[in-house]
Amino acid sequence: MVHNIYIKCNTCGTPIRLRIQLDGSIYKYDLPIHVCCPNPNCGDEFDCHFNHKQGVLPKWFVASEEDMPNYSISYSPQLPIFSNIKYGVGQAFMLTPFIALGTFYTLPKISHFGAYMQTILEEVYPYRTLLKELIPILKKGNVMAFQKKMMKIMELENNKRDLSSVKECHDVYTDFVASLRRSFSSPEYESNVSGVVLEKCIHSIRSHSKEETQALMDVVKRTTNIQKWKEDAMRYLGSFLEHSEKYYPVMFFIQVGDITIPHTIDFMIDTIDVDSVHADFSKSFNLLNDMLLLPVGLCNMDLTEDFNIFPNATTGMKGINGLSEFAKLPDGLKIEKLRDYGVIEKYLANYFNSHVRNGIAHENTIFYTDTQMVEYYYKMNDDETHEDYRLIDVAIMTFVNTLHVMELFVLLNTLSNKL
Ligand SMILES: [Zn+2]
Repeated sequence: MVHNIYIKCNTCGTPIRLRIQLDGSIYKYDLPIHVCCPNPNCGDEFDCHFNHKQGVLPKWFVASEEDMPNYSISYSPQLPIFSNIKYGVGQAFMLTPFIALGTFYTLPKISHFGAYMQTILEEVYPYRTLLKELIPILKKGNVMAFQKKMMKIMELENNKRDLSSVKECHDVYTDFVASLRRSFSSPEYESNVSGVVLEKCIHSIRSHSKEETQALMDVVKRTTNIQKWKEDAMRYLGSFLEHSEKYYPVMFFIQVGDITIPHTIDFMIDTIDVDSVHADFSKSFNLLNDMLLLPVGLCNMDLTEDFNIFPNATTGMKGINGLSEFAKLPDGLKIEKLRDYGVIEKYLANYFNSHVRNGIAHENTIFYTDTQMVEYYYKMNDDETHEDYRLIDVAIMTFVNTLHVMELFVLLNTLSNKL
């Protein structure tokens, strides 16, 4: 069902018809809508907030009496928007985002996503602040307070148990991260992006001696402070989960299995702004980068029986002796070297993008609101060379990197239980 609301731009008064795709989420959370005035001479940006307690009306908006405005803007809180239907000038009839998606994806896939979102809204959304709230309790080592906060989740997971130590609290926290990852993931993500790496890593930890895994951890520790990484990861995952509803349109792609970047069709996202995506991208990229030696070393162990020997030692990794030498390479070159490393290449491909990261780090990006295209000027002191991605694609990269951070967090706990 689509709800029509007639508003006026705050600045120039252009009447706009907002078309909101209604679904279960409207009754769950404040729906933030970032509106860009479509009048080419204005371009003002403003936010409308929808709250079910007030019905499906914006918290504040300037009503327009015009019932046939020239501009229509379509929004959906759970689905990506197809750019053709974002602005319709003088169109009398338009398809809803939902029906438009039906021309690209099969109906079973779309309805599967609907069912999946219902589960997310019921079983994940109510606990979205929990990861963050547990951090100070874990830091203080307050087992009783931790147990009290976790009780609902543990009942939900049929995992009710009495906690008696801080270590057990860390295990339960990790279990919660692991179950979040399972909730957000999909069979396609498992089989194409993450599953093989995660499986190999866990197999490595189980099948190799304590001494071998300890030797790998010693190399990882030389470049990364593990304790600090864990704390940073907890803070990042806590804040990510807190606003994860902004990534619901991204989860659509994960669920229908369309994870490749870039997307050939112009999809857009209206639940999150470019600065928030960039902040999340940088944090998840850096966390993954700082812990990259761990999955690479564990996969080496699984494939060559030695964490220092790469399966592509005679090709991509030629001339690089061992993991420590690999660690010293510049980030862009690391990805280059891994290009012929089957499973790891798939794990990072398209998402672990150092050009996007550099553009953000140099504060040298240009965002076009009408197309949602972002230009990343990734070279220092070079205002000519850029690589372009759509905001929805950068949001997908961010989401996949965040799933990887969850996986590494779980792996670290598995390791520390062994060592
Ligand atoms: Zn305007």
